[in-house]
Amino acid sequence: MPELPEILIFAQDMQKELTGRTIGGIEIVQPKCLNVSEEEFQTALTGAEIRNVTPRGKWLQVETTRGWLLLNLGMGGEILLTDRDNLPEKYRLVFDLEGGDCLAINFWWFGYAHYAVNLADHKMTAQLGPNALGLTLDEFRELLRGRRGAVKTFLLNQKHIAGIGNVYVQDPLFKAGIHPLRPINTLSDEEVARLWRALRETLQESLDQGGSAWERNLYDEKGKWDESFFLIAYQEKKPCPTCGTTVEKIKTGSTSSYICPACQSLES
Ligand SMILES: [Zn+2]
Repeated sequence: MPELPEILIFAQDMQKELTGRTIGGIEIVQPKCLNVSEEEFQTALTGAEIRNVTPRGKWLQVETTRGWLLLNLGMGGEILLTDRDNLPEKYRLVFDLEGGDCLAINFWWFGYAHYAVNLADHKMTAQLGPNALGLTLDEFRELLRGRRGAVKTFLLNQKHIAGIGNVYVQDPLFKAGIHPLRPINTLSDEEVARLWRALRETLQESLDQGGSAWERNLYDEKGKWDESFFLIAYQEKKPCPTCGTTVEKIKTGSTSSYICPACQSLES
């Protein structure tokens, strides 16, 4: 599933490749990924010129001269810059660009291609918290102030802070020495600062490697942030890199967490 680093990379590449390009036509294979009728979607965006592409959590916001195209890959998928002769085997939507090439979008399971006249009208993105990368420590502290729930649940809730999923949350909690189930109001100022720093480090590390090795970018290339970068994430039964204790996989609400039971204490 693409998380913030992959979305930032898509936004950067799409901004470079698509700004100033006009959508000449749209092929819709999966109308249920739209939030408006097929006809309305076609009428709104055919002939629109792309102005700007920005990341927002796990969404890509494509500003055009005729409103906004909002993309979310859901559990995973591809957004490929290609041409009609080289379309991937599977796609749910194709945006033909004037001048020849096209943007082919595939969702592995289910995703969204939404249209909104104004960004503020689009509830699913308007509800999102700030992007996880780019927050100052003070802003991060402010987000956590007065919260009582488990820290991991908070970090994964896109309405609080956008772009972190189950892949990128594991190692930052470990680096900060914080158990995923720790109540937020028991975190010390120093632990909050360590967590903020660790989140930035992990997200930036992936960004520097071109994103996750399990995702493909606009040019159909895999990222280089692979298992060799993981500390305890997905390392069940392997030794903790700090103390050697066996890494455990535990259930934390609806998600799984990988922890070192010695380094990540539930007690404050
Ligand atoms: Zn340990």
